[in-house]
Amino acid sequence: MQRLQKVISEAGIASRRKAEQLIIDGQVMVNGKTVTELGFKVDPLHDQILVNGKEIKIKTKKVVVLLNKPKKVITSMKDPQGRKTVIDLIRLQERIYPVGRLDYDTEGLLLLTNDGELANRLMHPRFELDKTYEAIVAGNPSEAELDQLRKGIQLEEGVTSPAKVEKILINKKNQAKIKITIHEGRNRQVRRMFQAIGHPVVHLKRIQYGFLTLSGVSVGKYRFLSEDEICQLK
Ligand code: URA
Repeated sequence: MQRLQKVISEAGIASRRKAEQLIIDGQVMVNGKTVTELGFKVDPLHDQILVNGKEIKIKTKKVVVLLNKPKKVITSMKDPQGRKTVIDLIRLQERIYPVGRLDYDTEGLLLLTNDGELANRLMHPRFELDKTYEAIVAGNPSEAELDQLRKGIQLEEGVTSPAKVEKILINKKNQAKIKITIHEGRNRQVRRMFQAIGHPVVHLKRIQYGFLTLSGVSVGKYRFLSEDEICQLK
């Protein structure tokens, strides 16, 4: 909740002093009632504020959140089945939306923002940034199989664009850890790419999105991007 005169002046229609005078003069209505009290508190996102009969436009601060999404959390605003959503993990007044999605069972770096323009741009195929994943896959894919991913592989809807692929290690359960960087963001793309070469994904984590990494953000936690980082995304 914020003081009414602050909200009016921040909306850019009057200085703080002028806003106070407008309130004293009875020219301000909140949710249909004239307010003349200077200390009056409002919720700028939900209350309707009229100055001289005209609704003021609240300039909402643009925020971008970098979340380290855990497994078993759904990338959506609400889940009809009552599963935990990424929004449940973030305490924030602003309404934010996920930029793209990570599967229920995928963990890692997910951006959320209230800046619709930025979100659309980041999801547009022309501007999409590189996304790097660590995949644990069944079996030990040969270099020839990994080359298929590097060159582009036929999925239902078309051939994927070339990927960067690096085998990191083999564990005792006959699983390989592979680092893969893709440019596109098709639905379940990484899982389908490994399925196509006969090595299904057992565990998937997004570790990088463009220049952004998970550094300093543990699983289930988040941080706000700085102005500088947001500018670099644009
Ligand atoms: N590719 C997938 O298969 N799943 C994700 O969550 C992200 C990329």
